[in-house]
Amino acid sequence: MSWLSNFVRPKIRALVAKPDVPDNLWHKCTKCEAMIFHRDLEQNLHVCQHCGHHMRLKPEERLAMLFDDGKFETIKLPKVPADPLKFRDSKRYVDRLRDARSKTGHQDAILVAHGTVGGMNTVIAAFDFGFMGGSMGIAVGEGMLAAANLARLQEAPLIVVPASGGARMQEGILSLMQMPRTTIAVQQVKEAGLPYIVILTDPTTGGVTASFAMLGDIHIAEHGAQIGFAGARVIEETIRETLPEGFQRAEYLLEHGMVDIVVRRGDLRDTLVRVLDILRRPLPPAEVIDLPVDGVGKGVSDGALQVTGTVDQPPPAE
Ligand SMILES: [Zn+2]
Repeated sequence: MSWLSNFVRPKIRALVAKPDVPDNLWHKCTKCEAMIFHRDLEQNLHVCQHCGHHMRLKPEERLAMLFDDGKFETIKLPKVPADPLKFRDSKRYVDRLRDARSKTGHQDAILVAHGTVGGMNTVIAAFDFGFMGGSMGIAVGEGMLAAANLARLQEAPLIVVPASGGARMQEGILSLMQMPRTTIAVQQVKEAGLPYIVILTDPTTGGVTASFAMLGDIHIAEHGAQIGFAGARVIEETIRETLPEGFQRAEYLLEHGMVDIVVRRGDLRDTLVRVLDILRRPLPPAEVIDLPVDGVGKGVSDGALQVTGTVDQPPPAE
C-alpha cells in the first residue's frame, strides 16, 4: 500500500491537477458572469465594464476612493467586551469573530478615518460587509460614536458609508441598543452645525437602515444598491402581494423620495465634494458693504442694510 499511496497517488494527482495559476487574477461579475481581469476591475473602481454592476468594496478601498489622493488615517477604535452573551448557534460567536478578523484583517465591521475631501477636513466611517455581513454590534456602535466625536472635535463633516445586513444577532439586545446610541451620536454632530452625509451602498438593510443610515442631511446612494429594512421576500410573504420591479433599489427609492441623489461610483467622489462645498460654504466669498442710507435699507434700525456679495436681496417688508 505504501508504494501505491506514497508514489503512485502523488504522480496521478500531479497529472490531473490544474496548473498552478493564482485564482485571484480573474473575477467573475456576480450579475452578468463575465470574467474581468483584476487590474481592469481595480481601475474601474470594481464596477463591471460589461453590465455596469457595482460590486462591493472593502472599507479601505472605499476610503481610498473618497479621500483626496487616496490618503487617510484610520483611528484606533475602543476595545469592547467580546461575546457578552456567550452566544452559540451552529458555531460559537467567538469563533465567528476570530474567523472574520483573520479573513478581513480588521477588528470589526467598521473603519473610521480622517483626512481631506476636496481640501476639507472630513471624517468617514466605512462599513465592511465582508466582516459578518457588516452587522452592527457593540464594536460598530462604538465606532460610530468615535467617528461622531472625532467630527465634532475637528469641526469636520461626518460621512458614513454603510454596507450592512443590520443588527448583529449574536449580540442580541446589546446590538439593538446601538440603534439609539448611534442616533444620538449623529444628533450631536447635527447640533454642532456640522454636515452629516450618508452614502448608501449595497446592501443597507435592517437595524442600520432603521437608525443612523436614514438620518443624513443628504442621502447619496450608489447605482443599483439594495436599501431597505426587511428583505423583499419577507415583505411579499407578509402582504401577500408581488412587489414592483426594482423594489428597494437606489433608483426606486430616489423616485419615492427616500434618497436625494443616485450616482455611479465613478462620479461619487465629485458629487460628495460638491455637496460638502455647498453645505460648508453657503455664501459667495465677497465683502460685506453698506447700502446708502436713503436706499432700500430705509427703516432698518441701523439705517443701512448689509448685503453680501452679489446676492439680490428684496427690500424688507414693512
Ligand atoms: Zn457584469
